[in-house]
Amino acid sequence: MAKEEKSAGQLLKDELAYSFKHIGQTHPEDIDPAIRFCEDYKVFMNNSKTERECTAYLEQLAVKEGYAPFDPEKSYKAGDRAYYINRGKSIIFVTFGKKALEEGIRFNIAHIDSPRLDLKPFPLYEKDEIAYFKTHYYGGIRKYQWGTVPLAMHGVVMLKDGTRVSVCVGEAEDDPKFVVSDLLPHLSAQQNKRPLNEGLKGEELNIIIGNIPYQDDDVSEAFKLKALELLHERFGMTEADFTRAEIEMVPAYKATDIGLDRSLVGAYGQDDKVCAYTAAMAAFAVKDPAYTTVTVFTDKEEIGSEGNTGMASRALDHFVEDLCEICGARKRTVYRHSVCLSSDVNAAYDPTFADVFERNNSCFLGHGPVLTKYTGARGKSGSNDASAETMYHVIDCMEKENVCWQIGELGKVDEGGGGTIALFMADMDVDTVDLGVPVLAMHAPFEITSKLDIYHTYKAFCAFYR
Ligand code: MN
Ligand code: MN
Repeated sequence: MAKEEKSAGQLLKDELAYSFKHIGQTHPEDIDPAIRFCEDYKVFMNNSKTERECTAYLEQLAVKEGYAPFDPEKSYKAGDRAYYINRGKSIIFVTFGKKALEEGIRFNIAHIDSPRLDLKPFPLYEKDEIAYFKTHYYGGIRKYQWGTVPLAMHGVVMLKDGTRVSVCVGEAEDDPKFVVSDLLPHLSAQQNKRPLNEGLKGEELNIIIGNIPYQDDDVSEAFKLKALELLHERFGMTEADFTRAEIEMVPAYKATDIGLDRSLVGAYGQDDKVCAYTAAMAAFAVKDPAYTTVTVFTDKEEIGSEGNTGMASRALDHFVEDLCEICGARKRTVYRHSVCLSSDVNAAYDPTFADVFERNNSCFLGHGPVLTKYTGARGKSGSNDASAETMYHVIDCMEKENVCWQIGELGKVDEGGGGTIALFMADMDVDTVDLGVPVLAMHAPFEITSKLDIYHTYKAFCAFYR
C-alpha cells in the first residue's frame, strides 16, 4: 500500500522529534566534492607528520594565498592577511576584519602535534649485534599497537657549532624504514598473559636501526658505531648531538583511501591535523570576514598543552596583545567579545566496540563535524562545558549555511575521558566550544576519518568565519 499522507503522529513527530542523519542520505550531491576535497588533504598529511613539518607546510600554503609575515610595527586594514610562527612548531594566521577589533575575534584553534615515539636524549645502543634507538612515547598511545609498524625518523639536530640540521629518513620510496619488534605467536605464551596495556611495555619500544658491524676487530660496539658512521655521513652528527636534538619516530606510510567506495581516509596523525587542514582551508576561503579571524595551529596538546608552543602558554595572548596595540584596542574587551572554536577530533562510534559508547550521544562517521559541549572525566572535571548561548551561536552559523553537524560525547559516562585546548581559551574569558571531525581508532598509528565529515567540517569553519 502506497503511503500518500502522513498520520497525525508522524506529522507531530516530524515537528517535535530530531535525529542526526548520514550526509550520504541527506546530501548525496556532496559525495563527489568531499572526495575531491580530500585529495589535497592526503598530500598535506604526507607533508605534515610532525608539528615542525606541518608549520613549514602551512607557511608555504599561506604565502601562496597572499599571507605575509606578521609585523607588529605595521598598520593593517580589513582584508589584510599575515602569519606568525612560534619557534618553528606553531603557526598563527590572521585576517583583519571589517569590524573593530574590540567587537571580538573569531578564533579557530587546532593542534598539529600527534602521538608518536620520541627518541630519548641519549638513545643509541646495541644489544646482541643489533643497533637500537631507545624511545619515550609522546602522548596517549596504546603501546601494543606500535610493534611491527614501519617507522620513519623526523626531526632536528643542533650541531655543536650551532648549525640546525633537519632529519628525515624513511619517507622517500627508496629510503630505509625502522621498526619495533614483537614476539611471534609460537613463543608468546607468557606475553599473552599480560594485560593489553602491557602487551608492549614502555622500555620495550626499542627501534631497530642496524645489523651490520663496523669492519674493525679491535673496536667494541661495532654495530652501534656503524649506525653512528651512517648518521654522520648523512647528517654530520655525532652521538653527543642527540642531546641537542628533537627526533620523532612516526609511521612511515602515506595517507590513503579506505573502503571500496573511497569514503574514508586512513592516515597517521589525523588527530588533529584533520582539523588543522580544514581550519587552514577555511581561513584561506574567507577573504573578507566581518570579524578579525585568528586561526591557530598549536603544539603540545597531546601532552597537556604545556610548553611555550602549547596553548597553556601565553604565546597566543602575546600575539593578541600585538594585534591590540596595532588596532588601539583594549585586550580584555577584545577577549570578552570573542568566540573560539576549539577544533579537535572526537571518538567516532565504533560498531565493533559499541559497549564503550552511549549511542544517543555518540558521533557517527558521515554525520558531519561533531559539536562537543564538554569533555573531561569523572563528572566533566577539567572541562570547558560550553554555554547554551555559545552552542546557539555555533549551531546557528552552521545551519544558516546548510552545514551538516552532530552532537557527541566522548564515550559513556565514567568509561574514560579526555580534554582539549578549550579550557585555556575559556580561561582567557572567551566563549569556546569544541567542534571537529569524528575519528575511528584515534591515537592509533593509523587513524580513520570520513571524507564527508572532513568536507562538512571545512564548510562549518567557513560558516563560523563569515
Ligand atoms: Mn586532539
Ligand atoms: Mn589526541
